[in-house]
Amino acid sequence: MEKDKICKNAIQKWGIENQILKSVEELNELSSELIKYLNDKAFRNRKKVIAEIADAYVVLRQLEIMFGEDDCKKQVEKKLEKLEGIIQKGG
Ligand SMILES: [Mg+2]
Repeated sequence: MEKDKICKNAIQKWGIENQILKSVEELNELSSELIKYLNDKAFRNRKKVIAEIADAYVVLRQLEIMFGEDDCKKQVEKKLEKLEGIIQKGG
């Protein structure tokens, strides 16, 4: 099944509020794995980080669908333009 269809089905099955909570949970898990990755240099677990990036990707896609894909895309473009400006300024 197409990935957007799966995301839309998840929103339909569990509802917007539950999927927002799920997003918070998954983004926290990614934060936690990234901190562990930075702090525990002897036992870095790249696979766990990648698994959490994948979870975050899936919930971020659901958030885009729930909050408006076009508005999210426009904001991403704006943020990237701003970042590009900062990089070019050398800041
Ligand atoms: Mg996770």
